[in-house]
Amino acid sequence: MSPYQRPAPARVDSAKALGRLGELAPELRAALLAWWHAHGRHQIPWKLTATGEPASPGERLDPYPIWVAEVMLQQTQLQVVLPYWRRWRAAFPSVEALAAAGEHDVLLLWQGLGYYSRARRLHQGARQLRGQPWSRDLEGWLALPGIGRSTAGSILSSAFDLPFAILDGNVKRVLARLTRSPRPPARVLAGFWQMSELLLDPRRPREFNQALMDLGSSLCTPRNPSCGTCPWQGSCAAYAAGDPASYPVKDASKPLPFQVIGVGVVLNAAGQVLIDQRLNEGLLGGMWEFPGGKQEPEEPIEATIRRELSEELAIEVAVGEELISLEHAYSHKRLRFVVHLCRWLSGEPQPLASQQVRWVDPQELGAYPFPAANAKIIAALLERLQPGESVPAA
Ligand code: SF4
Repeated sequence: MSPYQRPAPARVDSAKALGRLGELAPELRAALLAWWHAHGRHQIPWKLTATGEPASPGERLDPYPIWVAEVMLQQTQLQVVLPYWRRWRAAFPSVEALAAAGEHDVLLLWQGLGYYSRARRLHQGARQLRGQPWSRDLEGWLALPGIGRSTAGSILSSAFDLPFAILDGNVKRVLARLTRSPRPPARVLAGFWQMSELLLDPRRPREFNQALMDLGSSLCTPRNPSCGTCPWQGSCAAYAAGDPASYPVKDASKPLPFQVIGVGVVLNAAGQVLIDQRLNEGLLGGMWEFPGGKQEPEEPIEATIRRELSEELAIEVAVGEELISLEHAYSHKRLRFVVHLCRWLSGEPQPLASQQVRWVDPQELGAYPFPAANAKIIAALLERLQPGESVPAA
């Protein structure tokens, strides 16, 4: 029987449990790598050499495309990232090309991936790195904006085959199940890091980390893990207890706050539409959007739009019919956007709460980076503006 297969769950942060994991590590590494060689992902483009071959142990890979991919993967799955990464590589083939690019082009290429601060941080990082040698230690990578320890470890092991551990969401889940951790990983993070370091194969860190991520994304999935074909089944405490899907343990979650946002699609007499660029902060910093803001308690949505446009742009509008209403969930809140067509009445638009405002032809909206929710508003507007249709204003 494995030391983990027992009724009482282990404390992952206890020295005893870590000691047992250390004893098991050679066996777990061998089993994981054997599984990975047969079933793992070997064609991830940024893990291939210039000739398209998987890298040999110890072989150096170009850190630039790996860095870009790792930042894209921070909040997004591999299959979604792949086309973005390819377009990015074509547009910005080197760190120098990225450093020389304008922020507008960088954000436009990121459009649809979400969490836009990642794009701005890559851009800032490229300007920081320009002309510098690539770092081969954690401190060098942690000095870049938006790079945490797991991303740095993944870049160092992927690019240079150096023995740095990783601890992304997939790895936390696998380790929580392997040890049947009674506490959420975030509450015992140091213990989880120690586990990842103990298990890491110092002779093949690149392959081991990739294998661990592949195990988490293909077999040890959040729901219905495929324990029947798992190379770690014989040592897995959650499997032995028959409850792997119960791990990682989570803190009781609070319901997400909900807000209604009134949005104005403001048209002038020339048929141009008004957009503004958000300040360079927060989740959607630097993106363009249609102006609007939060509905106050008991406030009719038309009044919200009139008030927000007056407060944030110093303009008066007549609020017309609803164009579209849509909901969008972020990790920390849910929003409902209620969008109305508006007719501009008076006041030169001022960027009182944004970087800049601009009147643009509706057909030119595609040249601006918008968050996903705004992209649906654009589609509704363009459909509404089909030839022969008139936009009824108030
Ligand atoms: S046996 Fe199941 S729960 Fe345990 S590591 Fe493998 S897939 Fe995950």
